[in-house]
Amino acid sequence: DLDLELVALTKRYGQTVAVDSIHHLFHAGSYTCLLGPSGCGKSSTLRMIAGHEEVSDGAIVLAGHDISQLPPARRGTAMMFQNYALFPHLSVIDNVAFSLKMKGVDRDTRRRKAGEMLDLVHMTEFAGRLPAQLSGGQQQRVALARALITDPQVLLLDEPLSALDPFLRIRMRGELKRLQRELGITFVHVTHGQDEALALADEIVVMNKARIEQAGPAREVFNAP
Ligand code: ADP
Ligand code: ADP
Repeated sequence: DLDLELVALTKRYGQTVAVDSIHHLFHAGSYTCLLGPSGCGKSSTLRMIAGHEEVSDGAIVLAGHDISQLPPARRGTAMMFQNYALFPHLSVIDNVAFSLKMKGVDRDTRRRKAGEMLDLVHMTEFAGRLPAQLSGGQQQRVALARALITDPQVLLLDEPLSALDPFLRIRMRGELKRLQRELGITFVHVTHGQDEALALADEIVVMNKARIEQAGPAREVFNAP
């Protein structure tokens, strides 16, 4: 199956142990929020899964294969960042199609696939605009489309909603849950917000001082009714 498993995953930066031999199983298709104080190792964990940071020790197993030594584009993962990082001089559709261009996919296929992704995030009518001509929430949908165009099995989100105003933040939560249902992929989402985690997560993982302190269904972890 398509579960994602961290096995004794460890990250050291010189003398600093940022992630200390953590174990966790993310069930295929589930939505997990990763919580914990600043500096506890959340981003390092996410970046190791994405392949943006080298693993110091341990394994990252996706669908039965250790992906920890593969290049980011070949892992079956995709990452969306806090600041969206859209290319300012490229149109919305070219931003979404960018990674396919890098892979040498032909222009017609790129356009078709990027169009499908814009449909998925309800941004079709904005295809020709530049990022600066979009609201924060719209830019974020484009960033989502850009991450999803690679057909990832795992979508990694690093505080994706923190730059949005409260109204948009709540709307984007609904959008993320809809995408989880429609795509059936595994979500791993780093957040500072307990409310956000309760609204989104099937499972919560709480990190502290480079370790997993607690993990389980959202309601159990927060002791909610
Ligand atoms: P979080 O995302 O929970 O805030 P991080 O994973 O960013 O935590 O950081 C965990 C620890 O690793 C912190 O002590 C941080 O200072 C350290 N760290 C993170 N990235 C680097 C880096 N590139 N070089 C050195 N230390 C780092
Ligand atoms: P977060 O918001 O996840 O805590 P930070 O703002 O701490 O992230 O880190 C932002 C960037 O700075 C990251 O790329 C991280 O790798 C790097 N970084 C964090 N801590 C250190 C550190 N102690 N030394 C060098 N780079 C670091």
